[in-house]
Amino acid sequence: MTTSPNRSPETIAAQAGGAIDAATGAIVPPIHITTTYERDADLGYARGYVYGRPHNATIHQTEAVITELEAGRETLLFAAGMAAATTAFLALEPPAHVIAPNVMYWSLRHWLRTAAPRHGIEATFVDTRDLDQIRVAIRPGATRLVWLECPANPLWHITDIAAAVRIAHDAGALVGVDSTCASPVLTRPIALGADVVMHSATKYLNGHSDVLAGSLTFADRAPAQALAERAAAHRAGLGSILGPFEAALLLRGLRTLFVRVARQSASALAIAGTITRNPAVAEVLYPGLPGHPGHDIAARQMQRGFGGMLSIRCAGGEAAAIATAARLAVWKRATSLGGVESLVEHRASIEGGNSPCPADLLRLSVGLEDPADLIADLEQALR
Ligand SMILES: *Cc1c(COP(=O)(O)O)cnc(C)c1O
Repeated sequence: MTTSPNRSPETIAAQAGGAIDAATGAIVPPIHITTTYERDADLGYARGYVYGRPHNATIHQTEAVITELEAGRETLLFAAGMAAATTAFLALEPPAHVIAPNVMYWSLRHWLRTAAPRHGIEATFVDTRDLDQIRVAIRPGATRLVWLECPANPLWHITDIAAAVRIAHDAGALVGVDSTCASPVLTRPIALGADVVMHSATKYLNGHSDVLAGSLTFADRAPAQALAERAAAHRAGLGSILGPFEAALLLRGLRTLFVRVARQSASALAIAGTITRNPAVAEVLYPGLPGHPGHDIAARQMQRGFGGMLSIRCAGGEAAAIATAARLAVWKRATSLGGVESLVEHRASIEGGNSPCPADLLRLSVGLEDPADLIADLEQALR
């Protein structure tokens, strides 16, 4: 793989990190499906590859691209975003106290509440937009990690990452950021001081709703590197590494990341600005709108746009939200986000019982369709 230091992230993504195959000159790198590697006559492994559970060239190539995009030191790819996120917590070497946002990706919140305590992880949930709540929740000497999500599902809360990092680092805690909904196109948390950035690569990084994958990218700082080492050991021990075919699809998806996210952000802004005037909509939640409480921080913290995710609260309550989703034709009803196709989701009903999500809320993931079609479909459904 050839690397040159001064390429912009867009060039790195489009060229998959310069992944031209050294042996043949292939512009698209081959997929390495081997599970094992030849051992040297002296029983060493001079080429560095031993066995497929920790080592695979297609995985490493894809990890290298994400590392460059996130301006980190190294990346680990996992079989799902949840495998990546939970490994970040398990690699703390519990017992550990952690702080997490009270608005965050539902399944990870559920894991922190139900499974993490059995692993010696105790989570305190606070509104991370309010830095004083982070300060108060920190237990000096015991808090090991402050977890942030930005923008945070599904209300699109914006946390000031750099400010939260200062508080956490002063107390000796690491900072992890679930940056799935921002993608490295819009926000680079490591440049803001974070120690580890997590993606559900299932979403924007792959972008085509056809791969489950997750990533952790670690900063070039000693405590982050120590966490990376333990996370790699967990991945090898659990066998939670991504498969090579999935990694090759992900590498292909990454090539179009910047054009996809730029277009999705522009369309989302146009949609948010238009439906905000619809009388059937009580509130549009989108960090790109000047009235959003996190708009000023988002304008500083996000480049090139405010992302492709927004939510609407229906004036007619839950029944109106469900009826609106039922009338949509261009938007497809499905969970997940960040794909080329636009999706609508009634979050409260999929999250179930103790969901903090308002029942009148519809979450919209904006795809690559003509934004005029998306707006017309929403307007006919919002009646
Ligand atoms: C989807 C998602 C996850 C979990 O990722 P999977 O790939 O589904 O395991 C975590 N965080 C956010 C913000 C997500 O949207």
